[in-house]
Amino acid sequence: MSILVLADLHEGQLAGATAHVVAAAQAIGGDIDVLVAGEGVQAAAEAAAKLDGVSKVRVADNAVYAHQLAEPMGALLAELADGYTHVLASASTTGKNVLPRLAALKDVSQLSDVIAVDSADTFKRPIYAGNAIATVKSDDVLKVITVRSTGFDAVGTSGSATVEAVDVVVDNSQSSFVKEELAQSDRPELGGAKVVISGGRGMGNGENFKLLDGIADKLGAAIGASRAAVDAGFVPNDMQVGQTGKIVAPDLYIAVGISGAIQHLAGMKDSKVIVAINKDDEAPIFQVADYGLVGDLFEILPELESKL
Ligand SMILES: Cc1cc2nc3c(=O)[nH]c(=O)nc-3n(C[C@H](O)[C@H](O)[C@H](O)COP(=O)(O)OP(=O)(O)OC[C@H]3O[C@@H](n4cnc5c(N)ncnc54)[C@H](O)[C@@H]3O)c2cc1C
Repeated sequence: MSILVLADLHEGQLAGATAHVVAAAQAIGGDIDVLVAGEGVQAAAEAAAKLDGVSKVRVADNAVYAHQLAEPMGALLAELADGYTHVLASASTTGKNVLPRLAALKDVSQLSDVIAVDSADTFKRPIYAGNAIATVKSDDVLKVITVRSTGFDAVGTSGSATVEAVDVVVDNSQSSFVKEELAQSDRPELGGAKVVISGGRGMGNGENFKLLDGIADKLGAAIGASRAAVDAGFVPNDMQVGQTGKIVAPDLYIAVGISGAIQHLAGMKDSKVIVAINKDDEAPIFQVADYGLVGDLFEILPELESKL
């Protein structure tokens, strides 16, 4: 078995998700290479070389791979995939964008959102918003897999893989980068944060989300939101946690004024410890919470902050 992992990049640096995808590759077994593709990605390649279990880091450093546009990335992977039995990427926006193109180019089926590895050809993945787990077996010669990074603990960083340049430069006349609008934040990235505090419709308005800031500062937490809070315009949609938002599994998840609809639970129920603050003691969120505080969030949040 030989596995190629597509590295996830965040502003040109190696994103935390890659260490989880390498763990999934280790569960499959065999040689593991990591592909770092982008522009000016030497530092990311060096970080990838330190991931435990990685034999080789392959670096495609070229302007055509800047911003990891799906078309050139899919074509690059298709060029490189022949020597491999598996190609893995995280089920991030980039992985979900790129890997189906590789699968189509190679005429194989895509295995999405894998959360566990049974064997080299059999995997588990959630269906019905996480209410059932499907076990799927692939007979394709090349397995193209997106990995839900919360399903695997990150590998360590004591490795020393070799780093080699890839000189494949694909032609890309199909797409071009226009612009990106990034929300600037000093807080940890939602998908990788160890602590997340999320607000729901119960917060009442966007201004009240400031009540979460002090607690987030004290806990080093990222701030998330329910879709109702996003749809109501309280906060931007990159903060949404759930089936159609980000999937998180932090050590601690605090849900404030969130009822606990299944679509929200699909994004956070694998968190290690769940705390719910809600004035309705019958809110479904209490069924998944380890600790529940029944009361008015406008009284509880200031008290919690002062006690922290
Ligand atoms: C296809 C589809 C995909 C979806 N994807 C997502 C998704 O990704 N993420 C997501 O979150 N939702 C998603 N939803 C929406 C989901 O079904 C719910 O509508 C949404 O999660 C509800 O958000 P909420 O809990 O903030 O609001 P509500 O359900 O309105 O709950 C608000 C809660 O706040 C409590 N509250 C109110 N005031 C206070 C107070 N002063 N103090 C304490 N508690 C208070 C209330 O008791 C209530 O429990 C999706 C729905 C569909 C159909």
